[in-house]
Amino acid sequence: MRKIHHFISGQKQIGTSGRVHNVYDPSSGLVQAEVDLASLDEVNEAVTVAQEAALSWKESSLTQRTQIMFAFREILSARANELAKIISREHGKVISDAFGEVARGIENVEFACGIGQHLKGEINEQVSAGIEVYSLRQPLGVVVGITPFNFPAMVPCWMFATAIASGNTFICKPSERDPSASMLIAEWFKEAGLPDGVFNVLNGDKVAVDGLINHPGISAISFVGSTPIARYVYERGTQAGKRVQALGGAKNHMLVLPDADIEMAADAAVSAAYGSAGERCMAISAVVAVGTAADEIVEAIASRIPNVKIGPGDAPDSEMGPLITAEHRDKVAAYVMRAREAGAVVVEDGADRNLPKAGFFYGPTLLDQVTRDMECYRDEIFGPVLSVVRVTTFEEAITLINSNPYGNGTAIFTRDGGAARKFQHEVEVGMVGINVPIPVPVAYHSFGGWKASLFGDAHMYGPDGVRFFTRAKVVTARWPDPGTSSVDLGFPRN
Ligand code: NAD
Repeated sequence: MRKIHHFISGQKQIGTSGRVHNVYDPSSGLVQAEVDLASLDEVNEAVTVAQEAALSWKESSLTQRTQIMFAFREILSARANELAKIISREHGKVISDAFGEVARGIENVEFACGIGQHLKGEINEQVSAGIEVYSLRQPLGVVVGITPFNFPAMVPCWMFATAIASGNTFICKPSERDPSASMLIAEWFKEAGLPDGVFNVLNGDKVAVDGLINHPGISAISFVGSTPIARYVYERGTQAGKRVQALGGAKNHMLVLPDADIEMAADAAVSAAYGSAGERCMAISAVVAVGTAADEIVEAIASRIPNVKIGPGDAPDSEMGPLITAEHRDKVAAYVMRAREAGAVVVEDGADRNLPKAGFFYGPTLLDQVTRDMECYRDEIFGPVLSVVRVTTFEEAITLINSNPYGNGTAIFTRDGGAARKFQHEVEVGMVGINVPIPVPVAYHSFGGWKASLFGDAHMYGPDGVRFFTRAKVVTARWPDPGTSSVDLGFPRN
């Protein structure tokens, strides 16, 4: 059995807790590895290593950090296929999708290559006679990234690239379900010249997360995962005096107006609902169809579903792989069963497909006549299940979306610029697509939802990422002409 350990102080470190977690190959359903789960002693050790490394890393020059980032970027992009294969093997997503994930992660490393530009402060000369005021941004110290299973390479890249380039040391706590991508990244970072202890991987579960939250040596926690755990990490982390950004789950709506290009909207809905088997925080899980658009979009989506090729993640013609575990697949199936009982029209049921016998597969599923009180609409199912909610007016659609507790992503499909402008202005969601179904911002903007999709003030990566992983200092400086010096006991005034 393959063993996955920790990566501390520049080397693999065998776990000592005696606790392990099975890592499956979701395409075959077999256990392929065991990952160590950290104890509190191992948490303490990782933090001590990162604290020691932080002393010299924060003194490294911007030039040195930038050169390491450029070297790391080259390694990542030259070996993107290798990383994509490892992601696919543990997560189950198809290779092309895993490759796309790596490409989006590399964008964050490229952003960090320009860290000198992003850390530029501001200065005012002569705020008073002979006095300058300038602002700086300095690293926080040891920071932590706790990441979900569904993007085992990209989400860590969202966090560590900016954190490390800004002068922090980093402890990555990946999902115990697919930890190998982080381990490979750690090795490649070392190869790129990153000093030992600056990037560490601590594998684990709740014990490790709680240990990191409570450790006084940690300054900030960046978290991505489900809403209940995001809320927990945010509340506990801030109570422990840490800076926390915690991104949670989602229920992303795609609004289709009667004037939309229905064929284009259907292509987008199928891609965004069933890509990565629906295990994306930006997946479309509800189509809100206005008026006459409803019958047309349901028919157009249904006609595309039989063409979606389902198969093992590494098979060259697969377009959709399995779900992450058997339990999760069964949970998705139970949602579909209860949706039928609640009165939803099951246009396509993924269980009826000729699915591979082994592995955790469930086919693309389309539910029509879904209402807002139904569980399949309220909950984030996180599987290949798309619900269609029919409404009569555009205003009703916006009200529906705004009354949803989540606010991660949304999209409108229309040819009407005025309607798109109204939607963009009024919708209470953090990331909006106009004829774009998955509006994940590029690395030089920031990523973040509203409401139950994000706890904290800072969005992830981009300019918000730089602010999150640094703190501001303002210096008021006077280098007076000695000839003007005198004693003045009054409070200094500008
Ligand atoms: P999860 O919440 O189960 O796990 C996320 C992390 O928290 C993992 O590292 C896990 O080990 C840890 N964790 C799990 N249970 C814990 C507990 N009880 N106490 C402390 N730590 C715990 O999420 P997941 O299933 O790995 O990922 C899927 C979820 O992540 C979905 O809800 C999805 O929407 C969300 N997600 C959100 C975004 C976003 O940007 N908003 C991006 C990706 C995924």
